[in-house]
Amino acid sequence: MTVTSITPPVSENHAACATALAGLRPGVPISREVAVKLIRCPDEFLPELLATARAAKERFKPGVITYSRKVFLPLTNLCRDYCGYCTFRRDPGDPGAHTMTPDEVLAVARAGEKLGCTEALFSLGDKPELLFPEMRETLRRLGYKSTLHYLEAMCQLVLRETSLLPHPNPGLLSAEWIARLAAVSPSMGLMLETTNAALLARGAAHDNAPDKFPAKRLHTIEDAGKQNVPFTTGLLIGIGETLEDRVDTLLAIRDLHERFGYIQEVIVQNFRVKPAIPMAQWPEPTRGEMLRAVAVARLLLPNVNIQAPPNLSAPYYDDLVDAGINDWGGISPLTPDFINPEKPWPHLEQLRLRTEAKGFSLRQRLPVYPEFLSAVTTKPGLLSEKLRAAADDFGLAQIRTAV
Ligand code: SF4
Repeated sequence: MTVTSITPPVSENHAACATALAGLRPGVPISREVAVKLIRCPDEFLPELLATARAAKERFKPGVITYSRKVFLPLTNLCRDYCGYCTFRRDPGDPGAHTMTPDEVLAVARAGEKLGCTEALFSLGDKPELLFPEMRETLRRLGYKSTLHYLEAMCQLVLRETSLLPHPNPGLLSAEWIARLAAVSPSMGLMLETTNAALLARGAAHDNAPDKFPAKRLHTIEDAGKQNVPFTTGLLIGIGETLEDRVDTLLAIRDLHERFGYIQEVIVQNFRVKPAIPMAQWPEPTRGEMLRAVAVARLLLPNVNIQAPPNLSAPYYDDLVDAGINDWGGISPLTPDFINPEKPWPHLEQLRLRTEAKGFSLRQRLPVYPEFLSAVTTKPGLLSEKLRAAADDFGLAQIRTAV
């Protein structure tokens, strides 16, 4: 039997990487072919890859790393999907299953306001009422037809009653719902995760996750682009995808951004293993894999904000700065990371010190990035007023509380 290796021989890999690095041109986005070579680069080429990515970040946003000071609002943790890596989701009746009341939403938002937060991140399961009669009953009691109607009302509530700006992450959306949520939030998000539909196969990460079909997710992200909604997306590293899949996922995002110019942020998020998940025995991506993925993301998307969550790479999270990120994402001084509750966010003072030790200053941004503010502030209404009041002259957050 002949065994065909999918990994090129070592010498071939070295030569391919050396050629790819030698051919890089500052500010010119790399091709798929080059990205595939670089994401496979041997360890001895890693310092050069990182230096190139860090230089690209400096051309884009020199001297600064940003973060968004937020409260995390898990509006409901009921979800109709069963992703193999998720500890957030619950079925009705499970310990910890919960849908927040409007009073709870407002109490958390107000507490965050006092701590200088400017973002209300709404994270929730995807359309749980389609699967669970209990959620339909909860929504009926609250007075809403669907989870999305309830989310829209809670975004409105936070916008009206506090200085926080909502950023919803509700899963797949129709064009109509994108428009409705864009009227009450300056930006929104949906992780593409991966373009590899094979992860929906039996036993894979997206087995029994009907909302994780890549084509459906691309459709929602494209609809947001058609409406010019500042949009956050990204990829998951280490859920069963190949190195080429990581490149192809980034290329799919790049293609949409080239068409509509609205991708405000790409998150490069690493899988972390947890005891109670179906993927409890899966290996986590290595530090080297994360650094290569971030660096390749930076070189594929030289003028797009690249973010990686520091709590998922602790204690070595500051290495991500060397790979070309320019943002730490949402950090809360109040609420835990409900998606990864066992991985606390670093204290903001620690984050500032470690960012400064890398040669950058840390600045607080709004949920919508400065270069996308005008997509919202040029429209009349409360959202635009609140956003203008929250922004400083650079489009970052008005500082009310010292880091
Ligand atoms: S990752 Fe999101 S869609 Fe998947 S099970 Fe968890 S909450 Fe549901």
